[in-house]
Amino acid sequence: MIEPKQKTNNSFLSELQKKNIEDLAEYIANEYSPKGAINLESIAENNGITYSYGNYKNAFDGLLEHSFGNFHIYINIDRLEHGYTERARFTFAHELGHYFLDNHRNALAQGLTPYHPSFTGFISENLAEKQADYFASCLLLPKTRIKEDCFKRKFEFKLIQELSKKYQTSITATALRYSTIGCSPIMVAYCINNSIKWYWQTTGFPFWSLKFGKSKVPENTAVGEYFSKKRKYTTSEIVYADEWFDIRFDRDRERQFLEHCVYGSNGSALSIVWEK
Ligand SMILES: [Zn+2]
Repeated sequence: MIEPKQKTNNSFLSELQKKNIEDLAEYIANEYSPKGAINLESIAENNGITYSYGNYKNAFDGLLEHSFGNFHIYINIDRLEHGYTERARFTFAHELGHYFLDNHRNALAQGLTPYHPSFTGFISENLAEKQADYFASCLLLPKTRIKEDCFKRKFEFKLIQELSKKYQTSITATALRYSTIGCSPIMVAYCINNSIKWYWQTTGFPFWSLKFGKSKVPENTAVGEYFSKKRKYTTSEIVYADEWFDIRFDRDRERQFLEHCVYGSNGSALSIVWEK
């Protein structure tokens, strides 16, 4: 059954599609890079995919090209600084998604699309791009490894930092992946221009409805203060349930949550919320 919050948040991929992508990525991670951070270049090499890092201005973040049976991944270091940044790794994994997802590779191989230029990082509305982004997050942060790392650990922001360092993934990608794996209930909300671009709650998170939906960031939250007062916090802050959520029962209003914000360079902010 599809739960209502998933219809409103991430309707782009069905639960079945997500499970299939996750299973495929998990298999590839275990087969070609069985321990620790994923070695993407090794996965490419083991599958006969060549790759290069080059300067392509603003043309794309990454690109998978097919030519006479050969596949090549281009990573644009003009947009991703160098080959080993978290964004470059995410882009590389995303391009591998275009190769390993059958319908993507077949479309390329059959010449239905000559190549696959991508802008990565959960920003595209295009279905194939969303599938490749989801594949990338599942490949870089394999479910079994994350569950082992989080076993019997209460959630705190430090855990996301640790996972991000271990797997060489951004805080945003790591927090989002953590929330979908569901080790413990958290909410992740990506906010820009004082509205919520997307948010995701782990199954079991106690409140589903946001106070103002996605239209406006609630003012009295930590992330709300960033948009209304330009105030930045470096620690996890206490926030009450009725400041973030649409509360049905009075007894729930004062439930205490912790909120940790990560501020982006483009004026965006990621808010991670969990019950204290
Ligand atoms: Zn792409």
